[in-house]
Amino acid sequence: MSRFQLTDDNYYSREADIHYMSCSQYQAFQKCEAAEIAKLRGIWEPELQSDALFQGQYFHAYFESPEAFETFCNENFDKIYKTKTTKSRGTEVIGKYAPFEKLDEMIQEVLNDPLMSQIISWPGENEKPMIGEVGGIAWRMKMDKYCPSGRRIIDYKTSANLRELFYNPITKTRQTFVEEFGYLMRAAVYGEIERQNVGADNFPTFIILGVSKQTPPDKEVFLLNDEARWNLELENIKTRIPHIQRLKNGEENPRRCGECEYCRRTKKLHRFKMYTDLMTEFRNDPDNVEYDDYGGTSVFDTL
Ligand SMILES: [Zn+2]
Repeated sequence: MSRFQLTDDNYYSREADIHYMSCSQYQAFQKCEAAEIAKLRGIWEPELQSDALFQGQYFHAYFESPEAFETFCNENFDKIYKTKTTKSRGTEVIGKYAPFEKLDEMIQEVLNDPLMSQIISWPGENEKPMIGEVGGIAWRMKMDKYCPSGRRIIDYKTSANLRELFYNPITKTRQTFVEEFGYLMRAAVYGEIERQNVGADNFPTFIILGVSKQTPPDKEVFLLNDEARWNLELENIKTRIPHIQRLKNGEENPRRCGECEYCRRTKKLHRFKMYTDLMTEFRNDPDNVEYDDYGGTSVFDTL
């Protein structure tokens, strides 16, 4: 274990990412090793922030606390509020932009639903952090809400449509948002870390409180508990961690995915490609795979 001390102030820092694995970082490594290593080294930051991510933060802030919500709205005033300036009255707020009117409607939906409002009222801690160990390395996580008495972990999810299906080119089937966004991996890691923290033999309950952006909003409370699947997810992680750790240590060069924001930003062409190279079966062809070279230096050297 490192001597780095995780606090509220440095939880989302580059230093914390270097010393601790997290579900988001793990998923980022699965998507593009080169982009994640460049981020950890502090030489690249994504410039594009998705609207969906920002809107999710608004929704989360509401359920964190009135103070957190007020701070979030003040810090992002221009993105959320519509204003009008006149000679006689100066600048006044005339409402919120459409996505935030919609989010307010979704929040009301949660508060007015009998089951969801009951879950919101369970005693617990919002934005509760915990650290633990999976695959021989240190992880950190932050639960949207943790209810210690019933050992329940609650995750808030806003989505365009909870029933949308996403094409998976590997399995060649369409899958739900739970599979698409790796929620079972997240549930397994959160469950395992919570289990370690309370010293229990069994996993806690993992609940997704999901609301859609449709008019009117759709809503569901999903239970993600599936012990066999969680164990499989943890095994998969344990298999992949040594490679990720070697990337962080500089013992292996990170592979470029060739299509993400980072790869497009830093792309240099060296040869023609055959049109068939676009097909999934040829993407792993050695001629189509590129790596960033950091000369064997570690991300820890950048601290
Ligand atoms: Zn990439």
